[in-house]
Amino acid sequence: MVRGWLARRSTTLVAFTITFGALALVGSAQVRPAGRDTAVHARKPSRLLIRRAMVIYGNGKPPYGPMDILVQDGVIANIAPSLPVEADAVIDATGKYVMPGLVDTHMHWHEERGGIPMPIQYERNLYLANGVTLTRENGGNFARSKQWQAESAADQIVAPRMQVYWVVARGNGTTEAIRANVREAKTRGADGLKIFGMDRDQLEATMAEAKAQGLKTTTHIAVEEVTAKDFAELGVDSIEHFYGIADAALDGVQHFPAEMNYSNELMRFSRAGELYAQADPAKLEQVLDLMVARKVAWSPTLSIYEASRDVVKAQNLPWYRDYLHPALQAFFEPNLANHGSYFTGWTNTMEVRWKQQYRLWMDALLSFGHKGGVITTGDDAGFIHSLYGFGLVRELELQEEAGFYPLDVIKHGTVNGATLLGMGDKLGRVRQGYLADLLVVNGNPLENLRVLNPYGIDVYKDGRMSRGGGIEWTIKNGIPYHVPTLMKEVKAMVDADRKKAEVRTTNP
Ligand SMILES: [Zn+2]
Repeated sequence: MVRGWLARRSTTLVAFTITFGALALVGSAQVRPAGRDTAVHARKPSRLLIRRAMVIYGNGKPPYGPMDILVQDGVIANIAPSLPVEADAVIDATGKYVMPGLVDTHMHWHEERGGIPMPIQYERNLYLANGVTLTRENGGNFARSKQWQAESAADQIVAPRMQVYWVVARGNGTTEAIRANVREAKTRGADGLKIFGMDRDQLEATMAEAKAQGLKTTTHIAVEEVTAKDFAELGVDSIEHFYGIADAALDGVQHFPAEMNYSNELMRFSRAGELYAQADPAKLEQVLDLMVARKVAWSPTLSIYEASRDVVKAQNLPWYRDYLHPALQAFFEPNLANHGSYFTGWTNTMEVRWKQQYRLWMDALLSFGHKGGVITTGDDAGFIHSLYGFGLVRELELQEEAGFYPLDVIKHGTVNGATLLGMGDKLGRVRQGYLADLLVVNGNPLENLRVLNPYGIDVYKDGRMSRGGGIEWTIKNGIPYHVPTLMKEVKAMVDADRKKAEVRTTNP
């Protein structure tokens, strides 16, 4: 999404959030979960031993095990069938699976929704609880995100690793002004550029300066002069969402209805998927071939538009009962003033179109993957009924629906994401010498990707039904985070802010 990062902020909101984040940190340091595990939530041991895990390596190899994994000072030091070593903390992974932490290549950090404050720790906990250990922010409050990035790297906050991209767009003006803006991005420490809404001359200037400055690039292509073809020719590293790809395979320009107003989100989003139906299928294959040849990755964010194909389901996801912050709840109410809340006058016909267009979009994605294209996973949550982290797990499920095997999907979410973000030599695999970003999962994600969702799954055994699944531990940089504890904190934040919201509405 592209407008959330423009939202209002206030100093009171900032102060509120910092206090809440600090409380969450202090409160969580004491927790030692029940069971045989001696690891302590949010405390970094110098030696952490994970015992008897089935291992999903990350790059498509079949699972193997059981194996012991020794983590020393945040690095995977050894993996062997049995490691008779002493450790400060032990996690018993008998019957569990260990896989690399997930990479979210498209997300945004939000301290408010629609002007209502939301503690940043809420979003951090949700991402970690859904297995996300590395994030790429595609536009946000740049200075604050850079500060959090440093704090996360220094193990000072409970949060995933972060990369922070700088937004450059048509509004930056002349090609010289755009080049100056790209140089400023480099000076201020941007990890890359998110390019949005440009004409061809502006794009050429942006890409030339990005190359000169050694900055990575990604893009959200609007329906406009440049398409995926231009971006691939000029060497962009990745393309976000579905935009721009089918556009490059049209006979001429798009033919939306004459009354189309792209600023009206009901109009824009009710027809947004339509370009895949308008595209020439043979030309579309050529565009995909070009992307593969130029090594352009695709971060499709299938999950962020999913409400468009079943809005009633999206409004009633069962985990919203305990975990939907009141700021998000209000923001998701149909309202054209809130980006992505376009369900004002939404019709069955609009939904039916989206269902058909999703299939075309997924077919293009599958073809791209089969040609050798690099696919990553992003959720873009905080808009359109998508909840942070839950959206990323849903992204994995939808990539399976597109036609990929779960093992392939996990590669998209681990190895591919880490490689795109320039960290493939130290993250994304359960490999000796790699940084210890690992998930200890209650179940086998290859059997059911849904086990990664912290809401869990129903388990039927010996004629009895119980709740199961979920990640037990998300380990980032060698620090174990106990997922049920993270989610308990999320619920406490939601409960407290729901009470405040009630006070606000009953005392006008
Ligand atoms: Zn976005």
